[in-house]
Amino acid sequence: MQSHPMNILLVDDQPSVRLHLAQQLRMKGHTTLEAESADQALQLFGEHKVDLVLLDVIMPGNDGYWLARQLREREGSRWTPIIFLSALDKEIDLWRGIQAGGDDYLIKPISPVVLSAKLHAMQRLIRMRNQLMRTSEELHIANQRLTHISVQDQLTKLGNRRGFDDRLHEAVRQCRRDQHALTLILCDVDHFKRYNDTLGHVQGDRCLEHIGRILSTVCRRPMDYVARYGGEEFGMILPNTSRSGAMTFARALLQLMGNQPMPHPDSPVSNVVTISGGITTVVPDDDTNVQHLLMRADEALYSAKAQGRNRFFSFEMQMDTFEHLMAPPAATLTAQATP
Ligand SMILES: [Mg+2]
Repeated sequence: MQSHPMNILLVDDQPSVRLHLAQQLRMKGHTTLEAESADQALQLFGEHKVDLVLLDVIMPGNDGYWLARQLREREGSRWTPIIFLSALDKEIDLWRGIQAGGDDYLIKPISPVVLSAKLHAMQRLIRMRNQLMRTSEELHIANQRLTHISVQDQLTKLGNRRGFDDRLHEAVRQCRRDQHALTLILCDVDHFKRYNDTLGHVQGDRCLEHIGRILSTVCRRPMDYVARYGGEEFGMILPNTSRSGAMTFARALLQLMGNQPMPHPDSPVSNVVTISGGITTVVPDDDTNVQHLLMRADEALYSAKAQGRNRFFSFEMQMDTFEHLMAPPAATLTAQATP
């Protein structure tokens, strides 16, 4: 069996041993680097790509055990097989060599047949390890992609219902722990059925993509999350967002919709596509659960629809975005309430 050529680092303080080994290895088609000390070997290891190290145990200055430990520290995620060479035919040396990071052991004088067999075995290990690393990397990438796909809406590339539910549970936990206000918004496209019936489902999909892009634009803080909740419904999770902050957010969203209009030929509300939304904002406590939040947001969404659509309604403030615009700033109210 012909082995693949390797670049082998020979480390031995005796020139005759290096010469002898180098000749054997070159005859087998390998290339060699030679070092007479641990320090010189360390330098060569840093400068060259080394496939395998043959390492003498006893050397003046730093010994082979020391060098093996240094090599293991420096190679990072790579793995370079280390075979110790020693005249000391004692089990304790074998044990120390493996402890220091060695993979195998050869007794001097080295038999060419045994050396050749060990190199074959090491090459097989290298191949298996590389295969394993590749497979593991492919698995990791495939898993990441699967996880991503399972929580992503294919049309809008936003989160999907499952991603939204996961994130909402997480947001409730986190805001409860930190005692921060959490805002949940459910919104949908006004008279979307009429849009689809007039312009067709392909254009309906374009419309949902358009809304998705606008929602992504406004949900831009790292913790904000937006998902297509189903059909023409979207959900937004805004941690650290107060009631008043949520209303300001909703007005900015409506303004952005107005700046990027999309004609709606059959809407009783407007000549462009509009959306309505329900807002709920709470500082979660032990009684807060996801179902209640969704019910509140849904109820608020219903109120927004009932009050004429193209607006967002807050469950806790019991007012919509138009009324909020007219109302005095929250700071004034607080000032009046304080004696
Ligand atoms: Mg020696």
